[in-house]
Amino acid sequence: MPLCQNLCPLEMTFKCPRCGLALLKPGRWFQVASKYRCEGCHGEIRITYPDKIALFQKYAASQREGPSPPNIAQS
Ligand SMILES: [Zn+2]
Repeated sequence: MPLCQNLCPLEMTFKCPRCGLALLKPGRWFQVASKYRCEGCHGEIRITYPDKIALFQKYAASQREGPSPPNIAQS
């Protein structure tokens, strides 16, 4: 499934499975990331594909519940 679509510019939080510290990054970052260095436990945290799917689906669902999409006129 395509991960990004309209979720790319959206800020998403991913919680470190080791220390629970939330990482805030835009969707496009999560799309390409496979791991990151957690600032809480200084561990190398892997972001698996199922992790990404779950994350994007969560935000996709919240997008659908929201009001009509914003009109972005300027490029
Ligand atoms: Zn951590």
